[in-house]
Amino acid sequence: MLNISARECREQLRAAIRTDSESQSKLETISQELSSLNNEREDTKRIVAKNRRKIDALRSALVLIRPIPVRLAQLRSNLLAKMEKVGSEAITIATYKKLLEEIEQLKKNLKNRCPHPFIFERQGYEGSASHDFKDARPGVRHCVVCKFEEQTYDIEPVDLVALSRRYIYKTLINTDTRVIEREPLDHDGNIWRPLGAVLHPFEVLVARDINE
Ligand SMILES: [Zn+2]
Repeated sequence: MLNISARECREQLRAAIRTDSESQSKLETISQELSSLNNEREDTKRIVAKNRRKIDALRSALVLIRPIPVRLAQLRSNLLAKMEKVGSEAITIATYKKLLEEIEQLKKNLKNRCPHPFIFERQGYEGSASHDFKDARPGVRHCVVCKFEEQTYDIEPVDLVALSRRYIYKTLINTDTRVIEREPLDHDGNIWRPLGAVLHPFEVLVARDINE
C-alpha cells in the first residue's frame, strides 16, 4: 500500500519535473561558462608563452647590442687573419709551421678570455626503451666566438616519475649575458668567419621572437 494520494503524487511529480528542467538548464549554462573559461585559459596560456619568448628575445637583444670587448674582437680577427694566411700557397714551410703554432696559441688565448656570449645548442636525447637506451646522446653546446664546446655531463629528472629530463651544463649554463639558440640544421660548424656573419643567425632568431 502506497502511503500517498493520487493528488499528492501528481503535485510531487510536477514539482520534480520542474526541478529537472531547471537543473538541466543550469547545467547547460555551467557547461557553456566552463567551455568559455577553458578557451580563455588556452588563449592566456598562448599569450604567456609568446610573452616569455619575447622576454627571452629582448634579453638576448641586449647581449647582441652590447659590443664584444675590443681586445677579444682584436684577438679573434688576428686569429682569422693568420688562418687565412696559413691557407695561402705563397708561404714557406717554416712560415707555415710557425703560423700553425701561433694559431693554436691564439685559439687557446681566445677560449680563456671568451665569456662565451653566443651559443648554439644541439639538444640531447635520453634514448628509447626499444633500443635499450643505446641511442641516447648528450646535449652539446658550443660558443661561436671561440669554439669552446661542452657536452651535458649529467641529466636530472624534472618530475618525480622522470618522464622528462633536464640536461646539465657546467660552464655553458643559461645566464642573462648569454644567448643560446638551437643549432640551425644548415650550420656547418665553421665558426671561423667574421663575427658579423657568425652572429647573423642569432639576430634573425631574436628579431623573429621580438616581432612575433
Ligand atoms: Zn667562447
